[in-house]
Amino acid sequence: MAKLIDGKSVAADVVNKVKAMTADLVAKNGPQPGIAVVIVGEDPASQVYVASKSRTAKECGFLSVQHALPAETSEAALLKLIDDLNRDAAIHGILVQLPLPGHIDSGKVIQAIAPEKDVDGFHFINVGKVGTGELETAFVPCTPAGSMLLIERARGKDLSGLNAVVLGRSNIVGKPMANLLLAANCTVTVAHSRTKDLPALARTADILVAAVGRPQMVKGDWIKPGATVIDVGINRIPAPEKGEGKTRLVGDVDFAEAEKLAGAITPVPGGVGPMTIAMLMANTLVSAYLAAGLKRPS
Ligand code: NDP
Repeated sequence: MAKLIDGKSVAADVVNKVKAMTADLVAKNGPQPGIAVVIVGEDPASQVYVASKSRTAKECGFLSVQHALPAETSEAALLKLIDDLNRDAAIHGILVQLPLPGHIDSGKVIQAIAPEKDVDGFHFINVGKVGTGELETAFVPCTPAGSMLLIERARGKDLSGLNAVVLGRSNIVGKPMANLLLAANCTVTVAHSRTKDLPALARTADILVAAVGRPQMVKGDWIKPGATVIDVGINRIPAPEKGEGKTRLVGDVDFAEAEKLAGAITPVPGGVGPMTIAMLMANTLVSAYLAAGLKRPS
């Protein structure tokens, strides 16, 4: 049976460290780290994520500012808000909750965020740094950064020479994940919807990261015995066993099958999910340190 990789506990360690370093920074007359979370419209899932981010920011001792804008907000008004936040010295991290309503160009909004406040790591400057291995000065996107920490907890820091397969090539998960594994000297293959014979490819993986958004797609016979399996997927499926109309969350991996073969595996929920918010806090803390002219904390 696979060892369970407890994302909740690793995330709690990260948040506790951020909390301690925030207290230390403030005690030394440094700035209180400030995060601005911007949400446009009333998507219920986005509201849950935003509330959770704001709650964790407060727990860390951050200044946490929320801008909840109506769905009909114009692109120009949103860009003006981003510009104001870019200039606001009390704000070190700006997060725009995606997806944005269809009339707003998300790419334009993301590129308007100052790269040094882009704690989501989506600005081209940060994407370019991650792509060229400049990890020491980049803001790394939170979900892949958190997934790397979980991989290191499971296998240690030396991943050199291991075969890694990343299922999914999105800009926010798959591609940066592949770059991080490459920077850690893994041999990386990125698969997507046009890849041929996914099960055979997945079976070559010492480290298998699933980020496809397809409930329980990865079956037990896709897993190399002893592999580390990181399940990024968050999918809501019907759960009639819990009652009529009820649902439950599952990952992209068929957990019950995969745990019989994997060496270590993340659960859903309680795996990668909590790590994403924790890494967002870590990035914001780093931004505050850099804004104060201090050395980047590790
Ligand atoms: P996207 O929809 O942007 O990307 C999905 C990727 O999976 C695409 O590259 C797509 O291929 C590939 N894919 C889709 N279907 C198949 C298939 N049948 N076989 C092989 N590849 C396939 O999703 P995201 O990267 O944003 O998210 C992926 C999952 O991770 C989702 O479940 C999402 O909810 C979850 N997620 C979880 C987070 C967390 O905090 N834990 C944070 C972000 C996402 P192609 O490019 O060819 O279309």
